[in-house]
Amino acid sequence: MYDVAVIGGGPSGAVAAADLAKAGISTVLIERNLENVKPCGGAIPLGLIEEFNIPAPLVEKKLSMMSVRSPGGRTISMEMPNGYVGMVRRERFDSYLRDRAKRYGSAIVEAFVREIREENGRYSIHLSKGLPPVEASFIIGADGANSKTASALGFPPNELQVLAMQQRFGYCDTMKPYEELVEIWFDGEVSPDFYGWIFPKTDHIAVGTGTEFRRHDLKALQRRFIEKLGITETPYLEETAKIPMKPRKSFAADRVILVGDAAGLVTPANGEGIFFAMRSGRLGAEAMIGKIQNDKPLHAYEKKFRKLYSQIFFGLQVLQSVYYKSDRRRESFVAICEDRDVQRITFDSYLYKKMVPAPWTVQMKIFMKNIYHLTKGS
Ligand SMILES: Cc1cc2nc3c(=O)[nH]c(=O)nc-3n(C[C@H](O)[C@H](O)[C@H](O)COP(=O)(O)OP(=O)(O)OC[C@H]3O[C@@H](n4cnc5c(N)ncnc54)[C@H](O)[C@@H]3O)c2cc1C
Repeated sequence: MYDVAVIGGGPSGAVAAADLAKAGISTVLIERNLENVKPCGGAIPLGLIEEFNIPAPLVEKKLSMMSVRSPGGRTISMEMPNGYVGMVRRERFDSYLRDRAKRYGSAIVEAFVREIREENGRYSIHLSKGLPPVEASFIIGADGANSKTASALGFPPNELQVLAMQQRFGYCDTMKPYEELVEIWFDGEVSPDFYGWIFPKTDHIAVGTGTEFRRHDLKALQRRFIEKLGITETPYLEETAKIPMKPRKSFAADRVILVGDAAGLVTPANGEGIFFAMRSGRLGAEAMIGKIQNDKPLHAYEKKFRKLYSQIFFGLQVLQSVYYKSDRRRESFVAICEDRDVQRITFDSYLYKKMVPAPWTVQMKIFMKNIYHLTKGS
């Protein structure tokens, strides 16, 4: 019998379990596969690395150079003067976070959660492998985009979902120029409604693309991307998963909350989820501690998350709706990225997830440029 069962041992669940255990709450983390390799680009902002004290060896690359490419092949290079994008490999990253939770005192159980029953004011969590059920007073659902916790306990659906695919290639001559560069392709042939990415790691390059779930042939898009890049090698790993890019209508109830992908906390337009998974894991654990120690409502967690991040989600949703619609619009978007103020605002907001206010003269200039490029179509 535990105070809290955290279901799912990705970044959101591992952070929640660590924070709870550290506060002396009896916690169990249930993960179906401790060797799991989550399909993911593994790009994380500097703010995350600092806040969660990610050890240097886990951050395989610190990249401050980035380029964006338009449908017509126009490439804009951008440099981050005040920070970098960190590149991690999820198999190492997640495992480190789970070990940290264990070091703080969380129990770890490797099993698949099959069923959750509510009996006499507590939860009985039924597991695979013939293991006995786990009993807990509270649950944190951190079990990803297809969350069983959410469906078993009656949360509204995860709505806007992108299906994304990524292939890992060993370094070859064609990909050498990308060793220290993140490149994003805004090209309808690579993705008609999302984007394609090239992320370098120490021992491989990850190339991937995404598209709205069930709208296009994802494999064909990825094939075209690889052809366009001129890669002839065979990937050594291929991974596909959903990205839920819209918060569920509600993700907190009286005795259970959802965090990370289970709650739909991935930003539109860029599909960034690791930061929000870890932040929601932390905020969720904070609310759980308040509930257990002072009977404070768990809904405070959802309220706080929305207060902190709704503006960012809304801004990126607008950006995606306006600019990801056609190649003409994508061409305009890449043209706008050439503006130094746009680059500065984008990177500052990305690195620490704070909307950085710009002087009104800069805002006016950017607004006018948007109108100009959208009208001109380049
Ligand atoms: C192809 C792709 C590329 C991406 N690239 C990036 C990127 O570069 N940067 C970024 O920030 N985000 C990226 N994302 C998004 C990011 O991967 C997720 O937002 C993030 O992993 C969410 O973390 P989480 O802990 O909430 O969920 P997950 O990482 O999905 O973890 C859920 C865990 O729950 C476990 N689980 C599931 N069901 C059960 C069950 N019934 N019982 C027990 N355990 C269970 C799973 O095994 C898994 O370990 C990408 C996503 C995809 C698909």
